[in-house]
Amino acid sequence: MKHDKEPVTAARHLDLKALALSGGDVSGHESLSKFERIMQETRGLGGDSVVNWSAHGEMRPGASGEDQVWLSLTAGAIVPLICQRCMGSVDVALSVDRQFRFVSDEKTAEAEDDESEEDVLVLARDFDLPALVEDELLMELPLIPRHETCPQSVKLEALDADFDSVTPEKPNPFAVLAKMQIGKPS
Ligand SMILES: [Zn+2]
Repeated sequence: MKHDKEPVTAARHLDLKALALSGGDVSGHESLSKFERIMQETRGLGGDSVVNWSAHGEMRPGASGEDQVWLSLTAGAIVPLICQRCMGSVDVALSVDRQFRFVSDEKTAEAEDDESEEDVLVLARDFDLPALVEDELLMELPLIPRHETCPQSVKLEALDADFDSVTPEKPNPFAVLAKMQIGKPS
């Protein structure tokens, strides 16, 4: 278990420039329970899910000829959400495949993010990769989660049956009509 944990901790304090200079890869997987913002979306149901990610760092020449830090990120998770049609749990597969370019300050990042296909972020010595993974996965969450075809809920059927049995018997409209016709002179 110890070996599983060390790369994850390292990924939360990543030296991106060093990773890019070495053309290095980092990957990891961690329980969804560590991703608090996604866990809120699952209303606590996601504790058994796992988030996987893989990132590759490299230097690429920028417009001014100066090398820039780039990160390619892929990540995925299967996240249980509440189906808005049947209110049951629905497993939704989220996946992310994005490119990031890093610049030295917030101003440059803001200015260049709008006009770039890739996302532009500020370079940090101590970069939290799982936090970026969480940001990206959150953006992939469906606005209205639902099953393609809702499963028939056994619980709901049982509730319906109970409901029927406690409903007081309504008079059958045809029986009422028949009675009225009996009293009618022909
Ligand atoms: Zn459903």
